[in-house]
Amino acid sequence: MAITHNLGFPRIGAQRELKFALESYWQGGSSRDELVAAAAQLRKRHWALQKDLDLAPVGDFSFYDQVLDMSFTLGNLPERVRGYEGHELDNYFRVARGRSAGHDHGHGCCHAVTAGEMTKWFDTNYHYIVPEFEASTQFSLDASRLLEQWEEARAQGVAAKPVIIGPLTYLALGKAKDDSDKLALLPSLLSVYSALLERLAQAGAGWVQIDEPILVTELDAEWQEAFHQAYEALAATPVKLLLTTYFGRLGGNLALATALPVAGLHIDALNAAEEITGILDRLDQDRVLSLGVVNGRNIWKSDLNALLDQLEPIAAKLGDRLWIAPSCSLLHVPTDLALETGLDDELRSWLAFAAQRLDEIRILGKALNQGRQAVQAELEQNRKARQSRLDSGRVHNPEVQQALAQAGPELGERQSPFKQRATVQAEKLNLPLFPTTTIGSFPQTEDIRRSRRQYKAGELDESAYRRAMEAEIERCIREQETLGLDVLVHGEAERNDMVEYFGEQLDGFAFSRHGWVQSYGSRCVKPPILYGDVRRSHPMTVEWIRHAQSLTSKPVKGMLTGPVTILNWSFVRDDQPRSASCLQIALAIRSEVQDLERAGVAIIQIDEAALREGLPLRRSEWKDYLKWAIDAYRIAANGVRDDTQIHTHMCYSEFNDIIASIADMDADVITIETSRSDMELLQAFDKFAYPNDIGPGVYDIHSPNIPGKDDIVDLMRKAGERIPVRRLWVNPDCGLKTRKWEEVTPALRNMVDAAHELRELYYRS
Ligand code: GLN
Ligand code: ZN
Repeated sequence: MAITHNLGFPRIGAQRELKFALESYWQGGSSRDELVAAAAQLRKRHWALQKDLDLAPVGDFSFYDQVLDMSFTLGNLPERVRGYEGHELDNYFRVARGRSAGHDHGHGCCHAVTAGEMTKWFDTNYHYIVPEFEASTQFSLDASRLLEQWEEARAQGVAAKPVIIGPLTYLALGKAKDDSDKLALLPSLLSVYSALLERLAQAGAGWVQIDEPILVTELDAEWQEAFHQAYEALAATPVKLLLTTYFGRLGGNLALATALPVAGLHIDALNAAEEITGILDRLDQDRVLSLGVVNGRNIWKSDLNALLDQLEPIAAKLGDRLWIAPSCSLLHVPTDLALETGLDDELRSWLAFAAQRLDEIRILGKALNQGRQAVQAELEQNRKARQSRLDSGRVHNPEVQQALAQAGPELGERQSPFKQRATVQAEKLNLPLFPTTTIGSFPQTEDIRRSRRQYKAGELDESAYRRAMEAEIERCIREQETLGLDVLVHGEAERNDMVEYFGEQLDGFAFSRHGWVQSYGSRCVKPPILYGDVRRSHPMTVEWIRHAQSLTSKPVKGMLTGPVTILNWSFVRDDQPRSASCLQIALAIRSEVQDLERAGVAIIQIDEAALREGLPLRRSEWKDYLKWAIDAYRIAANGVRDDTQIHTHMCYSEFNDIIASIADMDADVITIETSRSDMELLQAFDKFAYPNDIGPGVYDIHSPNIPGKDDIVDLMRKAGERIPVRRLWVNPDCGLKTRKWEEVTPALRNMVDAAHELRELYYRS
């Protein structure tokens, strides 16, 4: 009998109930008891959805983040929050977001602390709170969260399996504040893990899922050895461990993972399909193999018949030692497709969200255990849905296919090298030294959001909406002129989101109504669904930019989102390589760029905020990704005349390791995030002479703080030590959309003043 189970369920709630419960609590609008009750309600509902599985996860629920939960379980709290006298949940929120509840309004709160650092969970768009370590870090067990939820699940009659993050992944994801050796902490960490497993065993847990996704990354000998040490130690505890890996193949860690003394191993059978045979050969007779066969990160229905072809021979061999599950936790997909009444039936029939993934697992389990005829109707329905997608004219557009066949990387070549272009652009634009600009968006005010809501609800007609947006654009242009900025933007008032705005206008994208996926804490994103060949049927931005340019004699930048970012922030097709989808988007953006140029726009910015996010987990695969991603960007951006200036923007500071690829984009100007790192990023320029213009951000837009003029001057002087000053631009770190005008205006005023001072300083010298 094959066993069915799940690794984790999205906790935010189909209607984002957890988000609203959290935010209400934080703002002092509801009590802690209410929040705790809302959470219990969600767990109950989610376990009910999983009742047909042989084992459902416990401990996958989190008020904010599962890594932070683990830090609390292990007693690894940052020094700055120890000894807090308030409630433990409030202390937890202090680490998560720098403050507890009831303090979202008003200032000077004595409970505020520095929030824990946040970073991306492997190659997903989920962000976790980075554990903090020091050489002196001591751990101590607090098993209460897991034990309480374990009891809760049992009371509900759920066959449950506690889920924890494994010790090596926990260490690997954390940061040693004092640069000490994290592995030195392993022995003391292991004793707490052992105690935790003992407690779970006492409470009646048979299996424990222990997540070690770092096994899909490249591990050096020392970390491999640490794995042996850790799992030898944990083997002495009275639970059965399901060592759980996901997001990739085991690669060089395959021998290691199969040699560890655990009762079972879970692998991502989609990404590691070619490793299954090798793993079967190595696995001892008594070991469980759990295959993650349905995609926990994408939303396309699985091909159940094909999966059964693959699974049946394995089931015959393994019997009840074969487990089946989603490839990874379902945290990364929306909760329930049943709510998507806005999608047409055909498209909906192609999709599966978290609840539907559980159905797939249930159907597969039944087919394996009782024969395919036991689920004949379901299998037939699945086959039909898959077939309709394969055959659909909405997916395949011959016109796009033809354009694609003709597109090669040569489309990404500018007419002349940068030096030559820079000369003609300088003549045309006539900008001062240290030109000032912004990254694109200006504050999205309540007025703007209201107009958009009313327009979408049909309460505001198209022309009234257009007038409202044009008024915002005008306000934005006037403000920038008053401030004395050199290169203006229209402010992006008409855009709700930098990807959604383009997705909504391109053929091939669909939008769900409730397809929310947790990004961090209470924040969710609703990724567009890229289902078909991408085609641009009309210009998407030209009229807005033309309007903005008509209001001023200063140059206004045309503002676009790049193909790699649109791809990386969407649910993408699984019927063609990512690179092919990316190229289609690139061709659409290229047409837009060329239309902007024809409309007389002299400067065009193409944002690639998410370029870095797409980097594969294994370094050995970076080159291939960077090749097609940069090619796609270049095709989108570079089909312009020499006198058209192309800008690009990236939202992060670490690109020392990909700087050659960044340079290869050949943008005339690149703007990047740097203010928080005190220009540290520019170290990359010591070894690599970045050839084109660059605007290192001098205003941290993530903070409400207003940067002082002198600070900006200092930052730019630091930049000037590494980059020729005639190549430098002065701009914020990122778009100003989330800020208020009261913050933006003085900050930009200081920025422009700083540029004036810099000009004097450098003209004189
Ligand atoms: N142009 C976008 C803006 O200013 C860029 C946002 C981003 O990089 N995330 O909002
Ligand atoms: Zn940005």
